[in-house]
Amino acid sequence: MAWPPNPSCARNARGQIASFNVINSSLEQSKAGSAFTANAPRFNINHPSHRPNRTGILPLLDWIGGLTCCQMGKTGDTFMNAPHHNMTHWAERVDLAAAFRWTARLDMHEAVANHFSFAINDDGTQFLMNPNQMHFERVKASDMIVVDANDPDTLKGPNAPDPTAWGLHGGIHRLVPHARCAMHVHSVHATVLACLADSTLYPIDQNGCIFHNRVIIDGDYGGLAFEDEGARCAAMFTDPRKKVMIMGNHGCLVIGDTIADTFNRLYHFERAAQTYIRALQTGQPLRLIPDHIAEKTAQQIEEYPLDDKFLSEIKLLLDEEGSTYAQ
Ligand SMILES: [Zn+2]
Repeated sequence: MAWPPNPSCARNARGQIASFNVINSSLEQSKAGSAFTANAPRFNINHPSHRPNRTGILPLLDWIGGLTCCQMGKTGDTFMNAPHHNMTHWAERVDLAAAFRWTARLDMHEAVANHFSFAINDDGTQFLMNPNQMHFERVKASDMIVVDANDPDTLKGPNAPDPTAWGLHGGIHRLVPHARCAMHVHSVHATVLACLADSTLYPIDQNGCIFHNRVIIDGDYGGLAFEDEGARCAAMFTDPRKKVMIMGNHGCLVIGDTIADTFNRLYHFERAAQTYIRALQTGQPLRLIPDHIAEKTAQQIEEYPLDDKFLSEIKLLLDEEGSTYAQ
C-alpha cells in the first residue's frame, strides 16, 4: 500500500508521540501490557497512539553485484493488521519483530538468547526489547516490553529481560546517546572473527569495505554481560562513526539510528565476516583492497540512501506469508 495508506493513517502518523505512560495494572491492558502488573509499573506497554510504517521510493542497491535499480516503494501493510492500536511505538515494534523473524531465518540467533532494543525517549534510557527467552521466530510486535535503563526494578517484572540483556542493552542506552538501536547476536561468522587473535575484518570485498575503519574490537572479554561488563562495552562507543563492536570471544554488537538501519548493518557485517572467514579457509593469499579504496567505498555506502529498504522488503515477504510478526 502506497503512502499514505489512507487519511486516518496520516493523522495517526502526526499523532505519534514519545510519551511514556505508566500503567499500574488493568484488566483492559493489551496482551503484552497485561504481562506487567502492579509489581512492575515501568514495564507496562504504553499507549495511546501508533503510526504506520515508513515508506517511500528508494533506490535498491544490489550490494553484492553492485547493480542498482529503482522501483516504487511499498511497505507491508502492517498498520492495517495491527490488533493493538492502543500501543505507542507500533511501527517500531513491527520493525523489531520483523528483524527478529529474519534473524532467526538467517540462523543468526542463539537458541532463545540475544536481544535487540530500541530507545523510545529522548535520552535513550527507556527502550523496547524482546521478552525474556522467547524464540526470535515467535516474537510479535505486541510482545515487546518497555524497560527503563535507570530503574533497577526493571528486573523484577514477570517477563523482564535477563540480567545480561539488562546489563548490556541498559549500559548502551544509558551511556551511548547515539545508539538509538542496539542488536547483539552470536552469529557464527562474526563470532568466529571475534575468536581470532587478530579480529580485524580486512577489506577483501565490497561488504567488508562498509566496515573499514568503523569497527570497535574488544579483546577483553570479561564473562557474561552483567551490568559492569555492559558499561565497559558501552564506554568503548566513543566514535559515532564506529557502530559495530566485535566482542572478543563472544559475538558482535551493532548500533544505529533506526531499527532498519541497524538491522541492515548487522546483516551486512555477518555477510562480510562470512566472506572473510571463508576466504581464510581456502588457505590462499588474500587480495586486500587498498586502504584508500576501502575508505572511499565506505564513505560512498554511508551516503547511499538504502538503509530502510532491506527491512521494508522483509516485511513485505513476511506479510505475503501471513506471518504473525505484526500482531
Ligand atoms: Zn552475548
